[in-house]
Amino acid sequence: MELELADLNLPCDKGHPVIIAGPCSAETEAQVMSTASHLAAKGCHIFRAGVWKPRTKPGGFEGNGEIALPWLRRVKEETGMMISTEVATPEHVEAALKYGMDILWVGARTSANPFAVQALADALQGVDIPVLVKNPVNPDLELWIGALERLNQVGLKRLGVIHRGFSSYEKKIYRNAPMWQIPIELRRRIPGLPIICDPSHIGGRRDLIAPLCQQAMDLGFDGLIVESHCRPEKAWSDAEQQVTPDSLDDILSRLVVRNHDSITEDLRILRTQIDEIDNSLMELLSKRFLICREIGAFKKQNNITILQSGRYSEILDKCEAQAGLCGMDANFAAQIFELIHEESVRQQLEIVNK
Ligand code: PEP
Ligand code: MN
Repeated sequence: MELELADLNLPCDKGHPVIIAGPCSAETEAQVMSTASHLAAKGCHIFRAGVWKPRTKPGGFEGNGEIALPWLRRVKEETGMMISTEVATPEHVEAALKYGMDILWVGARTSANPFAVQALADALQGVDIPVLVKNPVNPDLELWIGALERLNQVGLKRLGVIHRGFSSYEKKIYRNAPMWQIPIELRRRIPGLPIICDPSHIGGRRDLIAPLCQQAMDLGFDGLIVESHCRPEKAWSDAEQQVTPDSLDDILSRLVVRNHDSITEDLRILRTQIDEIDNSLMELLSKRFLICREIGAFKKQNNITILQSGRYSEILDKCEAQAGLCGMDANFAAQIFELIHEESVRQQLEIVNK
């Protein structure tokens, strides 16, 4: 199905990405107003705050619900910013519209569920509002496009997507693996669809926000949605990944926004592939060291020496032979494995001497 799209028409400074910023959750009226006024003073035009929070386990802060909506309306009235929040049910849609929400987004857990997306689509029939669809938590492009199709079918044309990474079982560098090839493929399939990057939920850590924002710009994404809180360390949800309005301003002022011509576009795609491979290399290495540490514990228990030279030469011989077969220099491969071996021994010694 071909999507029928219309411009999102969101405010941004000329030649700059659309920026949406605000706390993970609307906690108190004071927190909302303080964060919003700081963001507005930095020139931010669109405010975000979660009112209904999907939590993995019961007992966590699940959002204030409807009582937080007047706080967002106050943000709009007093700062002039547009306001946005996540909706997951038809009741959320009704309440959000009642309080003048300008933009809605569909969360990652909701876009993974076609029944829930259809219920949202039905509730939004006949409403002209921009809707941003987060990628489903699982890396399934068809499911993501399917959610857009359901919304488009009821007449919503001002659609965009938010790339927030994909969850996985293994512990990774990122909270949610970016798998950049998926939004890139989405762009190829639906070229007119605005893509906004959510570095906060991809990174899960403050120090990853700046490099992820830059990577999104390098890939020609159209905007950023960043969690920002007046006192991030005190946040009731996602405290590790929120940044102050000042630090967001600093991150944005250092962003290099590229022009979108096709030669650099091709180069960007190739670089993205390199970045993906480098991430995989790091993850593979960390898996290798994890097993090394297990071996270290085993050797300690059974009183076996760490260094067994026969084993080391066996590894080196094997990778030198493999290097030749893969078109790599045998010496280069040997050097890499010497370094890996050195680090493995260091990590095993740490375990043995614990
Ligand atoms: C959020 O934006 O606060 C949120 C809950 O995000 P996600 O749906 O991507 O987990
Ligand atoms: Mn969050």
